[in-house]
Amino acid sequence: MNEKDKPTVLLEYYLKKLKLPTMLKVYVSVAVSCQQDRCDFQTYLLRLAERELLDREKRAAERRIKAADFPVIKTIDTFDFKAQPSINEALIRELLRCEYIDKKQNVLLIGNPGTGKTHLACALAFASCAKGYKARFYTATSLVTELLECREERRLQRLQKQLQRLHLLVIDEMGYIPFSKAGAELLFEIISRAYEHHSLMLTSNLPFEQWTQVFGSERLTGALLDRLTHNCHILEANGQSYRLRQAKKQSKAHKSKT
Ligand code: ADP
Ligand code: MG
Repeated sequence: MNEKDKPTVLLEYYLKKLKLPTMLKVYVSVAVSCQQDRCDFQTYLLRLAERELLDREKRAAERRIKAADFPVIKTIDTFDFKAQPSINEALIRELLRCEYIDKKQNVLLIGNPGTGKTHLACALAFASCAKGYKARFYTATSLVTELLECREERRLQRLQKQLQRLHLLVIDEMGYIPFSKAGAELLFEIISRAYEHHSLMLTSNLPFEQWTQVFGSERLTGALLDRLTHNCHILEANGQSYRLRQAKKQSKAHKSKT
């Protein structure tokens, strides 16, 4: 095996020190392709810098997606808009551009179970991570549980600060389980703090009129809806459950075979 010469050893050491792992990996192969293309040295450096930057952005997006803690990775290309015509596709396409996050607007997805609310919330938050925004996914129950636990262990402020650093906080499944008084108040505080500071995305199977059932207090629900719905996009999905329809289709296909 050939010993590496001193400049090569030093170069590789410096690239490592400077945290340029992609340049380190590709500087030889890019040099070969540049030689073939008869590029000048600026083009060589440019190609190297581009590769490093692209990889760095990709790694950062992957980190943001991991930190968002999605229950499953769902993207918009697997969402069948024809199967759910009640969803405003144009609005979803607009939201994928994430301007609502810059404007600190909220998104509410309301509709029957199985209509794709969680899928859409994940896809929208995923798109925001890819664009450089920090998002975090919670179900309402998991967020309330975490808030209560943190309060008990005197870590509430730390969690509140963490949540405030986000660009987008997703709270899925509001309305499935009613909260305790303490839980409702903690969640109310999170929503109040988010107001005009960062975006919230909420999904619920309950129409607004029934949210009092979840939060207990009418006064709290009123104040909460006031903050949430000011400056917000509302998406309604009132079609049939996608899962139910798929299951029906499958059973029909099965019956016609037998
Ligand atoms: P919800 O949150 O409204 O109860 P989900 O988003 O959990 O519904 O959807 C249930 C399942 O059906 C998920 O696996 C989801 O990916 C799928 N699904 C729902 N609607 C669609 C759709 N229009 N196109 C593709 N998959 C869908
Ligand atoms: Mg759901």
